[in-house]
Amino acid sequence: MSEAVEPSQGCRQQEHDRLLHRFVRTGLRKDDPPDLASLPPMRKPVYILLEDHDRAERLAQQLAFFGVNVQALPSADTFKASMAEYLPSAIVMDVDFTGPGAGLTLAAQAQQGLQNTIPLLFFSGHEPDTPTRLDAVRAGGQGFLTGTLEPSSLLEKLELMTSAIPQEPLRVLIVDDSRAQALHTERVLNSAGMLTRSLTEPIRAMAELADFQPDLIILDLYMPGCTGPELAKVIRHNDRYVSVPIIYLSAEDDLDKQLDAMSEAGDDFLTKPFRSRHLITTVRNRAARARHLKARMVRDSLTGLYNHTHILQLLEDCSFRARRAEQPLSFAMLDIDHFKKINDRHGHPMGDRVIKSLALFLKQRLRKTDFIGRYGGEEFAIVMPNTTLEAAHKVLDEIRRRFAEILYPAQPRDLQCTFSAGVVQMDEALDALTMASAADEALYRAKHAGRNCVVRVEP
Ligand code: GH3
Ligand code: MG
Ligand code: MG
Repeated sequence: MSEAVEPSQGCRQQEHDRLLHRFVRTGLRKDDPPDLASLPPMRKPVYILLEDHDRAERLAQQLAFFGVNVQALPSADTFKASMAEYLPSAIVMDVDFTGPGAGLTLAAQAQQGLQNTIPLLFFSGHEPDTPTRLDAVRAGGQGFLTGTLEPSSLLEKLELMTSAIPQEPLRVLIVDDSRAQALHTERVLNSAGMLTRSLTEPIRAMAELADFQPDLIILDLYMPGCTGPELAKVIRHNDRYVSVPIIYLSAEDDLDKQLDAMSEAGDDFLTKPFRSRHLITTVRNRAARARHLKARMVRDSLTGLYNHTHILQLLEDCSFRARRAEQPLSFAMLDIDHFKKINDRHGHPMGDRVIKSLALFLKQRLRKTDFIGRYGGEEFAIVMPNTTLEAAHKVLDEIRRRFAEILYPAQPRDLQCTFSAGVVQMDEALDALTMASAADEALYRAKHAGRNCVVRVEP
């Protein structure tokens, strides 16, 4: 995987990345190709046990709408009986189920004697103290949800916990003028399941960063043309990469020189020769944490979708890749119709609920390879790689039709709402921003055509 630098190898690299991604992709959507769709991640039920059983039932109903089989169990006995009969794909347990702290014990007992542990998520209606959180960890809890227990956040956690391979492999970019050293580093990281690319010319690093989007960068300290710390500073000058950890890997064993390098830019220093385990652990921990933090930074807190800045960034990245791979790319903007009326008549919280529900609906109905963002208040943007205008229009129109069928319980009568959308396909002349304004223009036309429709603009 080291030859990414030569353009002639670019395609092979890409193909390899694509296959690897395909392999690790596990959260499936209804439009995924049949070979992948035959492995649905949440085929087995999820057992949910809450102190407030009605709430558990409501959640089960809401998640059923999104194709997840959730069973609300009313007592410890039914839980034990269900466990004996059929092992679930995950357990969601209120720490106070059947009594203060009793849920913790019940969940821990249920795991005893099992060959494979079952993903376990704890919940508490009030903010738990640290001893409770510690008990949850000791009882095998992989997550802890508090507060209102929204269907969307629960679904997200469940998807993460129940997919066979939880995450895409970590990506590491290596810049080292010695090809042999770079190759060696790559092999070690590859052996631990990480995806790598290496560069022997530091000057090409920025282009590679944009294309590869690494979770972590490893830099050699001394290279011809540009030193490691210099390159680190260039990287840090770009807002997009301020949070990507940079580790120096060098034969320099003078501690003062190491500290000098780190005080300029960079986060850690490893000396050559290194122990494989040391390198793997350092890289994995830092990269995983950075990915986790970044995931929070680029997301909108109400819906969990990408925020405005990031979805535009993704549009740019995807158009770059689409052009290079000569694949189509479509971009859509959605806006909920007469949303002001929903707020005015039913209150702001109801408005928020509709926004969240559309977000969840889009996540469930679109492909995992599509990127969904919250563009503004009640506006959404969708980047659809490898999708023609016609296909994009078809998918969105179907979603529009289905979304309009949802009834939200409200007084004096249930509420229904619709959205309008504009969709465009990338062509040679369009950059990301032009594409966005073309989609906006199409959306405007959809509004003027009477709303509740999808307007496409031919390339
Ligand atoms: P149109 O069909 O033309 O799109 O009409 P509209 O009423 O949906 O559009 P308009 O842009 O006039 O109003 C959007 C409203 O959305 C205004 C704003 O108060 C509300 N809004 C924006 N962000 C949020 C939010 O996060 N939550 C809620 N509840 N309302 C929001
Ligand atoms: Mg609107
Ligand atoms: Mg609007």
